[in-house]
Amino acid sequence: MKKKFYFGTNTKMYKTIQNTVDFILRLQELTSDISRDEIELFVIPSFTTQKDANQVKKPELMKVGAQNMGWEEEGQFTGEISPIMLQECGTDLVMIGHSERRHVLGESDEEENKKVLCALNHDFTTLLCVGETGEEKEYGISEEVIRIQLKKGLYGVTREQTEKLWIAYEPVWAIGVNGKPASKEYAEEIHRVMRETLIELFGETAGNRIPLLYGGSVNPGNAVGLSRMEHIDGLFIGRAAWDADNFNEIIRSVLEKR
Ligand code: PEP
Repeated sequence: MKKKFYFGTNTKMYKTIQNTVDFILRLQELTSDISRDEIELFVIPSFTTQKDANQVKKPELMKVGAQNMGWEEEGQFTGEISPIMLQECGTDLVMIGHSERRHVLGESDEEENKKVLCALNHDFTTLLCVGETGEEKEYGISEEVIRIQLKKGLYGVTREQTEKLWIAYEPVWAIGVNGKPASKEYAEEIHRVMRETLIELFGETAGNRIPLLYGGSVNPGNAVGLSRMEHIDGLFIGRAAWDADNFNEIIRSVLEKR
């Protein structure tokens, strides 16, 4: 049997509580016949939806994640949400270092590292996002940037903790309405570099086990091609997945053809 393939979406600052509940219910209904040995499905909606989203999710069908998390359990961090608060909502997964957190809201690799450690120490599935800017790509330093983001972001993570670690490669220039998707060959090459770096950090067994997802303007036209690349274990999708019917179609086309 083929390796499990990962499909997830980050709904950014778009869906209300009701929109999120409707989306999750519809996505579960549409995909319930697909064996979860074949796919891992996850949805990452905004903070205000966490409690309701987790109440309607069927744990055997999907994980629900948060888009960010503070790195302390409590304290003088106005506006932050702590791991304890997310556990209280039933959240399974925490995404750290999305490109909009890094480049619009100014987070650093050091901050992402504190969040990664905190999320893993609180037993969340932890999705670290990495990706170079268009400028870094122009300079020809994409691989170096990715290696640095991985080495800094994962500093202090133990081999055992990698069991709950996922990585998404999301080139900044490929994300969102002005993004241009990476070619499957380019994405594959960066995924290969990520795999090499993870093996260097955690050894063969753990390094090979960590799922690597591609994100950045994935759409019905490029999803299958990307999914067929050797080092790509999943697709992390924004706009093209926010309608559950469209998301379901992408999932099925990938499963049929990969
Ligand atoms: C994202 O924001 O993580 C993303 C992948 O968005 P999009 O697919 O819309 O480019």
